[in-house]
Amino acid sequence: MKLSIAALLLAIGSTNGFVANNKQSLSPSLLSSSSSSSSSSVRLGWTELFARKPFITGNWKLNPQTKTEAIDLARGIAASITDKSPCDVGLFVPFPFIETVQQIVGDKLVVGAEMITPEVKGAFTGGISPVMLKSMGIEWALAGHSERRTINKETDEYINAQCRMLIEQEMNVVLCIGETLEEFEKDLVGPVCEIQLKKGLAGIDADDMDKVTIAYEPVWAIGTGKVATPEIAQSVHQKIRAILQEMYGAEIAEETRVLYGGSVSPESVDGLLAKPDVDGALVGGASLNAKGFGRIINFQTVDTPVEV
Ligand code: PEP
Repeated sequence: MKLSIAALLLAIGSTNGFVANNKQSLSPSLLSSSSSSSSSSVRLGWTELFARKPFITGNWKLNPQTKTEAIDLARGIAASITDKSPCDVGLFVPFPFIETVQQIVGDKLVVGAEMITPEVKGAFTGGISPVMLKSMGIEWALAGHSERRTINKETDEYINAQCRMLIEQEMNVVLCIGETLEEFEKDLVGPVCEIQLKKGLAGIDADDMDKVTIAYEPVWAIGTGKVATPEIAQSVHQKIRAILQEMYGAEIAEETRVLYGGSVSPESVDGLLAKPDVDGALVGGASLNAKGFGRIINFQTVDTPVEV
């Protein structure tokens, strides 16, 4: 599927005189099916144009407090997704609400678990296995969120076991990585991301990378209201893609979605998503407000001239 998109992009790029696999090389006017500005008779929607369709997902953490509130929130978020929404949408929700939320949102968005236990069965009190989740129709989970790394003391090895277990079950994982404020101030962003990426993905083959999404989440930006600038996000995402290239080659590095997470808001989303290596967002606090999250999902593309 991804290969055929890449081939299509190359073909379109050559007929129109530009390389089309970079978000910023395209004017949004060319994205519209009613556009008449292209001399080509081929009209493509967002999904077909970008090998990396943006993915925006909420992470509810330990929220909301009741099932009734979860139902209202899920309904509100699902209602904000339309045919024109420019991205795939997901919600990582607390275990007790998963099934209810899944029924409410239907196929409008993917519902996932905020963590899993990297075991299939046995004496692991409180554990939640990917097999259990899969039997309920859940195919996505987060791994390596900084709150789990710090509060629950999950190590890179444990996170790697979670990633491998999810992949073994043919499920999808969003692997979260990112540096603390101290590491940021000591200019250690690159090495920290490299260690977490390499340890988190150890033993995962290139063939399975279509089940992996990376979320760059600087710890200093999570829940603090201090969002990384689009320039910082772009520069780190570029580094992450270079590490992926070293690990898996250029094609997989180009195809893997790298999300940004850390205080994303309706105000900051457009600038972040305008960057060519920012393929979406992992949104905590702002995903608890249906109206605000609706605006984030329906982010505006920045009108950049077509390069000819
Ligand atoms: C998160 O939970 O992954 C997150 C990024 O939270 P927030 O958006 O609230 O910073």
